[in-house]
Amino acid sequence: MKALLVEKDDAGLRVAVQEVPDDRLPKGEVTVAVRHSTLNYKDGLCLTGGGGLVRTYPHVPGIDFAGVVEESSDPRWHLGDEVILTGWRVGESRWGGYATRARVKADWLVRRPEGLSLRQAMAVGTAGLTAMLAIHALEAHGLEPGQGEVLVTGASGGVGSVAVALLSAAGYQVAAVTGRPETEAYLRDLGATRIVPRSDLAEASPKPLESETWAGCVDAVGGPMLARVLGQMTYRASVAAVGLAGGAQLPTTVIPFLLRGVNLLGIDSVMAPIPEREAAWTRIARDLPKDRLDAMTRPATLEELPELGRAILRGGVQGRVVVDL
Ligand code: NDP
Repeated sequence: MKALLVEKDDAGLRVAVQEVPDDRLPKGEVTVAVRHSTLNYKDGLCLTGGGGLVRTYPHVPGIDFAGVVEESSDPRWHLGDEVILTGWRVGESRWGGYATRARVKADWLVRRPEGLSLRQAMAVGTAGLTAMLAIHALEAHGLEPGQGEVLVTGASGGVGSVAVALLSAAGYQVAAVTGRPETEAYLRDLGATRIVPRSDLAEASPKPLESETWAGCVDAVGGPMLARVLGQMTYRASVAAVGLAGGAQLPTTVIPFLLRGVNLLGIDSVMAPIPEREAAWTRIARDLPKDRLDAMTRPATLEELPELGRAILRGGVQGRVVVDL
């Protein structure tokens, strides 16, 4: 099989496309011919040795893939089934989707939903699935269209772009925070009705509460921006905390929780139960406008991934990347 292999020695990491014998694949019940993979923030970390995510080398990154079942010893999966894998630490603690073949546990796979091709599923990927999980969580806590503006931070990144498109398609008014003013037209095309410069929210406010502004928030940034946003939520509104592109610290007080009943909802896509994933994929397939998905997606080869991995870590990738294998 062909794979993007990360090797480590005294000189550091070497990342290159190589022919690798199939018997190097990990154990698992289902072998998949990978058709498409993608690039997420975490892939950037795995490609560059960041975050301590990869412990064993040589390693094949790629936290997501979509493909066709080639072999299965599990009765749920058969030759020719079209499947999606995201998360479960695939591509981190075991070999992932940056290869023409992958082997995983049968429990981890999701069937391709009706209305979404394998390629479109990877245009969505972990980033988009997580955006959907975040919106489900906000709605489970009472968010409905018509309550006011919903804020999306890190809006021109992967999670942010899909969140903007999904929220807008569901009838929400979307305010998009970006540090890249040049992405304004792109974000408006995805459905944002207001652009908020990152600098407006970059620093924690000296006041724990500011005017009540946002009816909900999908936050891909964390850090001081999340702290700032918590103090601007409307009474009993919720923030779905998804990411840490702006930092892992949360310099806040408990005041927004106590005086405004604000909810901070943690979102994890990696170990999310299969029924929640299936519900999210079904809604994505039904509701995400395909022209907007196309507008946020660019193709890439395995060879381009090392450079793209570095770019995503510095916030330099717009929207989503699909890797065609
Ligand atoms: P991207 O790099 O595609 O998007 C992140 C965006 O955040 C950037 O495009 C940029 O948007 C903004 N940003 C970057 N750096 C900063 C900064 N220093 N301060 C403020 N904003 C910044 O990554 P993804 O969308 O793939 O992932 C986003 C985050 O979500 C990551 O932290 C990732 O680890 C996390 N994540 C979590 C998951 C979960 O299960 N909880 C699943 C998937 C992702 P702009 O230029 O528009 O400002």
